[in-house]
Amino acid sequence: MKRKDFLKSLALLPLAGFAMNLNKLNLLTDPFESTEKMPVLFVGHGSPMNAIETNEFSNEWKILAGELPRPKAILCISAHWETKGTFVTAMEKPQTIHDFGGFPQALFDVQYPAPGSPELADETRKIVTTTTVGLDEKWGLDHGAWSVIRVMYPGADIPVIQMSLDYYQNPQYHYDLAKELAALRQKGVLVIGSGNMVHNLRAVDWGKPNQGFDWAIEANSKFKKLILDNDHKQLINYKSLGREVELSIPTPEHFLPLLYTLALKTENEEVSFFNDKCVMGSLNMTSVRIG
Ligand code: ZN
Repeated sequence: MKRKDFLKSLALLPLAGFAMNLNKLNLLTDPFESTEKMPVLFVGHGSPMNAIETNEFSNEWKILAGELPRPKAILCISAHWETKGTFVTAMEKPQTIHDFGGFPQALFDVQYPAPGSPELADETRKIVTTTTVGLDEKWGLDHGAWSVIRVMYPGADIPVIQMSLDYYQNPQYHYDLAKELAALRQKGVLVIGSGNMVHNLRAVDWGKPNQGFDWAIEANSKFKKLILDNDHKQLINYKSLGREVELSIPTPEHFLPLLYTLALKTENEEVSFFNDKCVMGSLNMTSVRIG
């Protein structure tokens, strides 16, 4: 069948099969040809409620999506997928995972039916040579990914894959692994690290919805300065950054996605912050745009 005829026959297909056929169409048109370099993001996702609330944070995500070049696909490194070994989701249709408790039914009712991209999963597996990247068929999109991406791209028409965090590796491993993903930026792939730089759930103070503890504010400033100074080394060695940072990162999973984002920065590339704010005493929403 000629391409033109194929496109014509696609137009006749019922809507239900659309997402799947969209994927096949992408295959034919080579979704990973060279493009101009895509920006890279680290997004502080905060409470899952940001997914369904219109607030200052979700508004910013929406505005940002309007400013960015439209991605051909998204690769998300979420704080909420930890594994032994490194994996990427490789299914055609990732499920929406509601990996939280104690939230309103409306949040559990959310479905984000963005297609996956077995092609991008395979491409990612191939470009990483220092470790083996496994193809995963069981995960899907956890709330670290969909709570943000659904607000940015409500049409659910951009393929999304996730890369897991290998729980057993040190921060340097994650930074070095991320460096190997650099080529994806030139293939129309938007890489999003999703976590929170300051994330201490035990210390959350519900009486401070719009404020941070002194240590959280200090850690937020310290992180921003090191990011602007390109001092990734100190951020990788965050355990030596003192008490404020120790309190901010009791466990590494919400911080590590930041290292994936920073590793993709090239020299002299512009860095800007958005949603630069501490909330609930012990969290920050501070997010980073590179490029
Ligand atoms: Zn989280």
